[in-house]
Amino acid sequence: MSTVGLSAALLQIDQHLQSDQIITDPDLLASYAHDESEVEPCMPEAVVRVRSHDDVVQVMRAASKHAIFVTPRAAGTGRTGGAVPVRGGIVMAFEAMNQIDEVHRGDLVTVVQPGVVLKTLHDTVEAEGFFYGPDPNSLATCALGGNLAENAGGPRAFKYGVTRDWTLGLEVVTADGTSLSLGKRTVKGVTGYDLTALVVGSEGTLAIITRATLKLMPLPERVVTMLALLPDVHAAGRAVNALLGKGIVPRCLELMDGHTLALVRSEVAISIPDAAGAALLIELDGSEQVCEALLESAGNLVLAAGALDIAVARHSGEREKLWAARRELSRALRRTAKRKLAEDVVVPRSQIGALLETCARISAQYQIRMPTYGHAGDGNLHVNFLWDTPEEEPRVKAAIEALFRAVVALRGTLSGEHGIGVLKAPYLGLEQSVELITFQERLKSTFDPQGILNPGKMFPGHLHRAC
Ligand SMILES: Cc1cc2nc3c(=O)[nH]c(=O)nc-3n(C[C@H](O)[C@H](O)[C@H](O)COP(=O)(O)OP(=O)(O)OC[C@H]3O[C@@H](n4cnc5c(N)ncnc54)[C@H](O)[C@@H]3O)c2cc1C
Repeated sequence: MSTVGLSAALLQIDQHLQSDQIITDPDLLASYAHDESEVEPCMPEAVVRVRSHDDVVQVMRAASKHAIFVTPRAAGTGRTGGAVPVRGGIVMAFEAMNQIDEVHRGDLVTVVQPGVVLKTLHDTVEAEGFFYGPDPNSLATCALGGNLAENAGGPRAFKYGVTRDWTLGLEVVTADGTSLSLGKRTVKGVTGYDLTALVVGSEGTLAIITRATLKLMPLPERVVTMLALLPDVHAAGRAVNALLGKGIVPRCLELMDGHTLALVRSEVAISIPDAAGAALLIELDGSEQVCEALLESAGNLVLAAGALDIAVARHSGEREKLWAARRELSRALRRTAKRKLAEDVVVPRSQIGALLETCARISAQYQIRMPTYGHAGDGNLHVNFLWDTPEEEPRVKAAIEALFRAVVALRGTLSGEHGIGVLKAPYLGLEQSVELITFQERLKSTFDPQGILNPGKMFPGHLHRAC
């Protein structure tokens, strides 16, 4: 990418957009150099704050003509460096495309722009009696563009699925500035290839999303949250198996191990007995009657599995108190060490116990702190690696690779929701064959022949420059 090419592209963009949409001041560029991952910040050469689909088309026409890299960015809360412009070029920022265009009662759909913060969408549709399922714990700060590009999940994924399951259609712009309308507004529809499903989760490497049509459901009548304190993760595993064995499908089933529990001890609304070495946050929803019946059964099963204490929250304020500590967990962990990496691995549900044992073994072997928590119902655990000094880094690296190898051996997958981005790209080959990786690279070149869209992400061969 040449400086002359970049200047020419910015000049072309300037002819179509307002001048205040193009940022080149280094002080302002700095806040677009990083996300919430451990990926080293990389300064873009320019940021373009798009305000419409047409702006995106104009930027991509210019970028394509002059072969300039473009990295889309929604709210920058990504965990794997997806929005970090590792090869420089232009960051396309979506914060100004933040309108909810439609909430349609009859069709049970909402149409949103990519800069809408997820919590704003939740609040808006819930005020009208509707429900949108995906709820990443970053919901107060992340935006729909990033959720779609990462196929974000969250605690409610156990019952309600992930972002892809709620996406009916997308408006997108490809690398050369072509506009495509993908998918549909109806729940059923099998016309053509399902390119909506392909673009969701493609981490901004195939096309830029400018609008999404999302499914809604009626808001569940009642929600109750239960925090169960257990002696250890084995008892928690027994409780999870007991619940699933009885056909109880909580909308959330979150696990915290002893290390993480110790961290939230001062932040939860109930006192935690010293003997507690694990916790389950269980959330049930449905009609009033169904909810109370499920609560009673779940409580009995959890007690039978060895729970030491249970707290139940029925009202939204109380429930939020139980959730607040869980939602803050990731940032709270970060405060306990100079460096932190969170790996969001997934194993088949039956292998959760094996995964927890593997983590304990790797932690002991490499002498690295590895507090673990996550979405037990989905087999998706956040295994955190905490360290303070550069001398520890080789051990952290070896421990991460050992974890990934173990996960693949358990027939799991490297990422449940955070994506591959920069951080996991070197490990893709542990899970996928060379043929599969090559096939996906060919698919990418069909969408983006010059490789200008979010370069340096996902594929091991395209690792990033030193910046
Ligand atoms: C405290 C904390 C808790 C978290 N909890 C969860 C969780 O429970 N579940 C979960 O899934 N994730 C979680 N995350 C990770 C993160 O919030 C999600 O990945 C989120 O979906 C990213 O959204 P964003 O708007 O911040 O995207 P960004 O970080 O801005 O971008 C993410 C990716 O999307 C691409 N992108 C952005 N906009 C577009 C667009 N318009 N078109 C095409 N590509 C685009 C970017 O290029 C990048 O590759 C958490 C993060 C934090 C910090």
